[in-house]
Amino acid sequence: MSMTDKGYNELERIFHERDAAWLAARREALNRERQALKEKSSKGAFWMICPKCGGQMKEESLHGVMIDRCGSCAGIYLDRGEFELLARAQQGGLKRLFGAS
Ligand SMILES: [Zn+2]
Repeated sequence: MSMTDKGYNELERIFHERDAAWLAARREALNRERQALKEKSSKGAFWMICPKCGGQMKEESLHGVMIDRCGSCAGIYLDRGEFELLARAQQGGLKRLFGAS
């Protein structure tokens, strides 16, 4: 194949298609891994185990938000979105405390 513009563009198209196919396959594989990990971890050895000291995490309510607190080191683990919820709840509490609106 000569390196005419047409040939070059054809090669580029082929590479692009291979990239797109690879990316799609990789994305699909990662999604499968994520789902498998989720199913495994919800019943597995690390479920509700403190990532810092290995103690047993207990669910408790903080400002109406369910959080996980370690029974050994008292560390707190927040799931996705819980920090934002707590920050919002805390903001409301401060407003009430200082009488701001
Ligand atoms: Zn701990």
